[in-house]
Amino acid sequence: SIRVRYAPSPTGHLHIGNARTALFNYLFARHYKGKFIIRIEDTDTKRNVADGEKSQLDNLRWLGLDWDEGPDKPGDVGPYRQSERMDIYKPYIQQLLDEDKAYKSYKTEDELEADREAQRARHEMPHYEYEYAGMSDDEIQAKMAEAEANGLKPVIRFRVPEHKTYAWDDMVKGKVSFESDTIGGDFVIVKADGIPTYNFAVVLDDHLMKISHVFRGDDHVANTPKQLMVYEAFGWEAPKFGHMSLIISKDTGKKLSKRDETVLQFIEQYRKLGYLPDALLNFIILLGWSPKGEEEIFSLKEFVKMYDEKRLSKSPATFDKKKLEWINNQYVKSSDEDVVMDLALQQLIEAGNIEENPDAKTVEWARKLINVYKQQMSYMAQINEMADVFFHEPAEVSGEALEEISNETAPVVLKEFAARIKELPIFDKVKILATIKAIQKDTGIKGRQLWMPIRIAVTHEMHGPELPESIELVGREKTLEHVDQTLK
Ligand code: GLU
Repeated sequence: SIRVRYAPSPTGHLHIGNARTALFNYLFARHYKGKFIIRIEDTDTKRNVADGEKSQLDNLRWLGLDWDEGPDKPGDVGPYRQSERMDIYKPYIQQLLDEDKAYKSYKTEDELEADREAQRARHEMPHYEYEYAGMSDDEIQAKMAEAEANGLKPVIRFRVPEHKTYAWDDMVKGKVSFESDTIGGDFVIVKADGIPTYNFAVVLDDHLMKISHVFRGDDHVANTPKQLMVYEAFGWEAPKFGHMSLIISKDTGKKLSKRDETVLQFIEQYRKLGYLPDALLNFIILLGWSPKGEEEIFSLKEFVKMYDEKRLSKSPATFDKKKLEWINNQYVKSSDEDVVMDLALQQLIEAGNIEENPDAKTVEWARKLINVYKQQMSYMAQINEMADVFFHEPAEVSGEALEEISNETAPVVLKEFAARIKELPIFDKVKILATIKAIQKDTGIKGRQLWMPIRIAVTHEMHGPELPESIELVGREKTLEHVDQTLK
């Protein structure tokens, strides 16, 4: 049966690349009606951060994923945190020691570094040199006893088979193979503190949790031969592997790195800016997978249905911010009115543009405002910038704008406008539009000469959303104030 897993290390917030990994495991599981499992790989205790696990899971949920088993959803093969599985690992470690497929290693960090230095001088790739080379069993026992007596704590190393090829048919990359002699020598499977390393624990867990397929980042390709050796040592069948292509930033042309500040890389950051989760998810799926036709906007349900691992991209995916914004804008435009309203309102409140717990009148006003800008928005935080004129006194009128209205007709238009809107029984966009049309009819001034003076006077800008709507949002009092100032 199909069982896949996403195995985050709780070392920080959910990264775009990891979210993509999670998503592709999810799509695979749901498409083939298998199980999707979350396992927390928290054995690297130095790198764990408080709330790392919670934040990872929260953000996966926010993106719309759910799982069948995980730390918060116990199943038959738990616990689902590696730190809680230490007793499970012990007999397997002992088995490898007993079968001499692994051994205790006492080389100190200083000795290892001295080895590496000598290797560099000989122009060799750094590798572990066997510390018991040429020794008899008795000699080895004696050396180990001496090290113990000196208080040294051993690590456990896996005995890497010599001159063997480890190959697999990668679900993304096709055939991949490694020579055992090139992987850096006998690797550590248990650290001096007794905690298994990633390459070892991952095999035990994937096997014990009956994982059938593993999709993970390209950065794990070099780990796979080590894991295959461990499977072989136990006589277990390895799952099928698929290594997702790199993600390259369109701006820098380089691999997306967590230090690159030109791209927001954590789901949390997008969430805070009021991106719609469905849109972000759609974008992430396209980073590594392509649908058949031209259409690119799909719901998670549709992706699950269409999913086909043959369409996973082998070549690096490009992270294109413009595309991200475009996709998001598509979603904003077609989204449920209330969803957009709630999120945008929240952004207005967070920015201090609208006070907390707004009254019904303010909410109504905000809804109109959001509606004016909805077509242009990719994410909700943009409302604050786009609608700035409604919250702050507008900036000085620019020279270009002043020029635009330094003609004879502008004052005529503005005076008429002020006089007429003062008298309007209802101050709304319909009445405002009718007023401007009436001025055109009565004065014969039209087009740019009619609209620009009003726009510039009210908003101080030459461009903006629909004018009657904008004027309604500015409100009668402020509109009159601005027009008066301009006339002076
Ligand atoms: N904990 C590993 C990571 O976060 C998981 C790698 C794997 O999927 O095997 O990269």
